Amino acid sequence: MRCLVISDIHANLAALEAVLQDAARRHANYDIVWCLGDVVGYGPDPNECIELLRTLPHVCLAGNHDWAVLGKLAIEAFHESAAFVVHWTRETLTGPSWNYLRVRPERELQGDFLLVHASPREPIWEYVLDVGVAEENFNFVTTLCALVGHTHVPLMFSKDQRTRTVSAVSPSPNTPLLLRHSFTYIMNPGSVGQPRDGDPRAAYAVLDTEALTWTQYRVAYPVTYTQERMRQRSFPERLIERLAVGR
Ligand code: ZN
Repeated sequence: MRCLVISDIHANLAALEAVLQDAARRHANYDIVWCLGDVVGYGPDPNECIELLRTLPHVCLAGNHDWAVLGKLAIEAFHESAAFVVHWTRETLTGPSWNYLRVRPERELQGDFLLVHASPREPIWEYVLDVGVAEENFNFVTTLCALVGHTHVPLMFSKDQRTRTVSAVSPSPNTPLLLRHSFTYIMNPGSVGQPRDGDPRAAYAVLDTEALTWTQYRVAYPVTYTQERMRQRSFPERLIERLAVGR
C-alpha cells in the first residue's frame, strides 16, 4: 500500500491542493492519505480543507489546534495570534466540519504503523525535536514505525534494536529510504500548511508499506494567495508573514 503521509495542513487550502497534485503526479496510484492532525488553525480555509480531505480515502488524527477549536484543550497555552485564529475558526466551521473534527482519534494503528499528531507518549501535545525526547518516546512504540507531526519540521529518528542506539536520520528529498526490521522509527513528514524549517514549500512524504520505503518531498504553492485570504480575514500579520519564510 502506498500512503500519502501529511500533517499540519492548518487550513491552507492552496498548500493542500499543491501537495495532492504533486503526489498524484509522482505516485499516480497512491492508495490512501494518512493525515496526522491539525487540519485547522492558523489558516484561512478550514471548511474547504476538511471538505477536500473527505473526498479522498483517508485516515485523520486529532491535533492540538483541532482540539482547541473544539474546546477540548485550554486556549491559554496558545500564542495570542494562534488563539485569534482558534476563535475565528470556531465561528467559521460548518456543522459537518464540527462533526468531522469531533470524532478524530488520538491514536490510530494501521498494521505496523502507529499514527499520532504529536508523540507516541503524548499524542496531542509533546514535540519530538531531538534525540533525547525521541529516545524516551521509543518506549511507547511497539510497532515498526510511529508517524508524528506537530513540529512542522520533517524529521526522522531510528532506534537500532540490537544496540539500543537512537539516532537522527536525514533522508535526502525525493529519494526512497529503506526501513529495516532490525530498527524502530519515529518519522515526521513536516507540515503542509505552515512549514517551520526555513523552507516555505509544503512538505509531505510517501510511505510504501510493502517495499518499506519512506520518501520526503517538498512542493512550492502560491503563498501570496493564502496570505491574501488571511488579510481579508484580518488575521495577525505575524502569521501572514511567517508563511513566506517557513519559520
Ligand atoms: Zn500544527
